[in-house]
Amino acid sequence: MFISDVSLSSITGLPEVIITNPIKKNDTITGIMGARVSIENLYMLIEGIDIGKSGEIFLVNNKGELIFHKDRAKILHENINNNFAVKEVIYEKRGVGDYINYKGEHVLGSYYWLPLYRWGLIAEENKDEAYADVMILGRQTAFISLFAIFCVVLLAIVISKRLTEPIESLKNGAHSLVKGQFKPISVSSKNEIGELTEIFNQTAEELLEIRKKLETKIELANKDLEEKNKELIRANEELKKLDNLKSDFLSLVSHELKTPLSAIRTSAEFLDSEDTMDPDVETEMLNNVIMNVDRLTRLINDILDLSKIEAGKMEFHFELVIFQEIAKVSIENIRYLALKNNIAISLDIPEKLSPVLADREKLIIVLNNLLSNALKFTYNGGRVLLSAKEEKDNIEIKVEDTGIGIDKDKVAKIFDKFYQADSTSRRKIGGSGLGLSISSGIIRAHGSEICVESEPRKGSIFYFRLKKFEKK
Ligand code: ADP
Repeated sequence: MFISDVSLSSITGLPEVIITNPIKKNDTITGIMGARVSIENLYMLIEGIDIGKSGEIFLVNNKGELIFHKDRAKILHENINNNFAVKEVIYEKRGVGDYINYKGEHVLGSYYWLPLYRWGLIAEENKDEAYADVMILGRQTAFISLFAIFCVVLLAIVISKRLTEPIESLKNGAHSLVKGQFKPISVSSKNEIGELTEIFNQTAEELLEIRKKLETKIELANKDLEEKNKELIRANEELKKLDNLKSDFLSLVSHELKTPLSAIRTSAEFLDSEDTMDPDVETEMLNNVIMNVDRLTRLINDILDLSKIEAGKMEFHFELVIFQEIAKVSIENIRYLALKNNIAISLDIPEKLSPVLADREKLIIVLNNLLSNALKFTYNGGRVLLSAKEEKDNIEIKVEDTGIGIDKDKVAKIFDKFYQADSTSRRKIGGSGLGLSISSGIIRAHGSEICVESEPRKGSIFYFRLKKFEKK
């Protein structure tokens, strides 16, 4: 079968092809059948294809000549074989390509070889127009992608906020827990973080509980320590006092013990050395020995008394005491010394003074101490007065003198053992600094206190109270 090239029909003026086919009988060609086939319909079919504004569709023959063009149907056999698609299709290829067309435009084209007719069908479209939809699609895709990204970011922010907010509260909770100001964190969700928050709250409460207990323990321990520290300070002060006392005691021993001992020794040696001695001198020496032995005995008795008082072991025998009686005894005890020093001593005690409840012997010791002090510290020519005054339940007893008095800053210390307001007086007048300690201990055992009022160089008043004796 032969198919001719396309030509314009001389009869219809329309494009046609002539198809011829031999007629055979017993393998012998008996004739040839020919037919003019209008390809107007094919052209109309191709013309109906819409491939956009810039689209072109055309047919080329195997020589690359344009045999049909949608818009230029009448121009046949125009040579356009400089076109890439045309070149490809006349080599009987099929395919698509992106190339410059015969008009010099960038196009996207598809070429198809039709072997039956030996034609090539080429469809081309301006590249921009061809990709326009793709571009729109691309833009839409980009917009959708951006929108999707925006949504994802928004979602991520929301989710991360939902995640980070509880974590942030946990963090703040942990910080406040460290500072000890924890408040339970509200649980807003039932997910793992919610569970974690609940566990955190529980743990924090338990920790706070433990912390409170520890703080209480530490507070108690601190108080205990403070107490112990105070005790230590007290003990230290006590030790310092004891140390001072030790020094005082040593100086007392060196003076109060040594002095009478060496006086006794001197007298004894003297008595021993002289074969014939003036009896008066001998008596004086013996008296000196006796006086110093008495002085030593007094000191030893004082030390013993004081240690008994301090240990709470001094025994008291409380009984009815007529104060006038022991007042007279005490005055008698010092009368000689008073006369010697030209000091007037007097008593001012009402006749009908109520009896008191006291330990007679101890009360005599107190009066002796106060009166001998009054004499010791009063200038020659001065006065000493022992008085008693009736009160509602008590008898007030006073020992007044017109002596040297006591400096204000020393008044509180004179009751301390071994203390002497003026240490030079020890050397001049003697004394151990124990009298007032013993006396105040005795009066305290009577339920009272020895008080002092004193003015330097004018005199002193020592007074205390004794309970009246009540019949049961
Ligand atoms: P002592 O008389 O042996 O020194 P005391 O304990 O009796 O010891 O007295 C302590 C000190 O108190 C005395 O050394 C003295 O300084 C002071 N004192 C006591 N009584 C008087 C007084 N009447 N006038 C002045 N000072 C006194």
